[in-house]
Amino acid sequence: MSELVDRHRSVVAPVIGFDNDVEMVSGQGAWLTGVDGRRYLDFATGIAVTNAGHSHPKIVAAARDQLDRFWHGGGTFRYESVVALAERLVDLAPPPIDMFFFMNSGSEAVEAAVKLARHTTGRQAVVVFRGGFHGRTMGAVSYTTSTVKYRRGYSPLLPSVYVTAFPHPFRWGMDPEAAAERALMELRRLFRHEVPAEEVACFLIEPVQGEGGYYPAPPLFLEGIREIADNAGIALVVDEVQTGFGRTASWWALDHYPGVVPDILVLGKAIANGFPLSAVGSTKDRFGKWPTGSHGTTFGGNPVACAAAVATTEVITEFLPHSRQLSEHAFRRLTELKQRHPTIGDVRGLGLMIGVELVEEGRKPNPRALEAVRADCAESGLLFHPCGPEQNIIRFVPPLVITLDELEQGIEIIDKAIAAYESA
Ligand code: PMP
Repeated sequence: MSELVDRHRSVVAPVIGFDNDVEMVSGQGAWLTGVDGRRYLDFATGIAVTNAGHSHPKIVAAARDQLDRFWHGGGTFRYESVVALAERLVDLAPPPIDMFFFMNSGSEAVEAAVKLARHTTGRQAVVVFRGGFHGRTMGAVSYTTSTVKYRRGYSPLLPSVYVTAFPHPFRWGMDPEAAAERALMELRRLFRHEVPAEEVACFLIEPVQGEGGYYPAPPLFLEGIREIADNAGIALVVDEVQTGFGRTASWWALDHYPGVVPDILVLGKAIANGFPLSAVGSTKDRFGKWPTGSHGTTFGGNPVACAAAVATTEVITEFLPHSRQLSEHAFRRLTELKQRHPTIGDVRGLGLMIGVELVEEGRKPNPRALEAVRADCAESGLLFHPCGPEQNIIRFVPPLVITLDELEQGIEIIDKAIAAYESA
């Protein structure tokens, strides 16, 4: 352990937990290098952020170029990189999204999306889905139900937030369609017993629940939500903070749900491959009803972050076809591991956003196995984060720029670590 760890512990608040005590000094592509010269395969990608890998030369060049001009605007003057990024996102975003507003973090963007929905519908209530994660700030944590740990000790949270079921087929022991029907029935009950649909400003939903356990919404469920939103005049706010920017081997998770269009789209994490940036997208019509000055930010749309983001969109475009191959390989190999290892209960996800759920005695979550496998993998040079309320799910999110060989190296390390756990 390097002496940096002690210095870190003595001056940086311990509220953020670390998976290991490795001090990193550089990163390149899918690899990180520690202070002792050891190399690690990075399947954590800074919580699903560095989709284009570390230090991609195109992104480095774009950020440097902007740094040489100026690096802060703060609403004082207009500049190229933010406009170029908005134009690029309008081209890429699912219709009808044709305008953007930029901020710094996912939580901030979630809060702005809800403010926009409230302001433009004139309604108050927000409906969220159990197991969802939308951030940690006071408003965002009121919408977050991935684990009670994030809410404990912070009451009162925001009022008029209603939590309804999200389909968790594996945990419920159901097929995805039956789970979707059940969750839709719960939503109809919510409208019958707790809040009238006509008082609801928005649904706030992740198309694939991330922190909550890597659960893709069954298509039937998202289609049902869209239909209910249409019938009741509710805005559909889709949180693609974790699923966006190629993570699902497509630009957006919504690409996997033809016919489900967002009213408001929330972006963050991978948007600038690690520079702090987030965005809310919607239609010109809706943004036109949000009066100038009714919301704002000092740092949002930072010139360097926006320049990096434009370059990031180019790199992701280049690697999307490759990411599909990686995804097919990963699903094939991880499903094969599941057949051999009773500790793997489920392999699910979309693209390169894959959850490998570790269990015991059938479907019981097994966080002990996760901890042992994670420590063993780190020892063997592979880093990943867990997810799920019990922290028993391997969150498999390698960068899209990883080679097939490197991907396979990582899978082999996981295979060996699970075998070692099972034979202990
Ligand atoms: N929404 C989703 C879906 C997320 O995964 C996250 C972060 N894990 C957030 C919002 C909050 O983003 P941030 O941590 O940048 O505030």
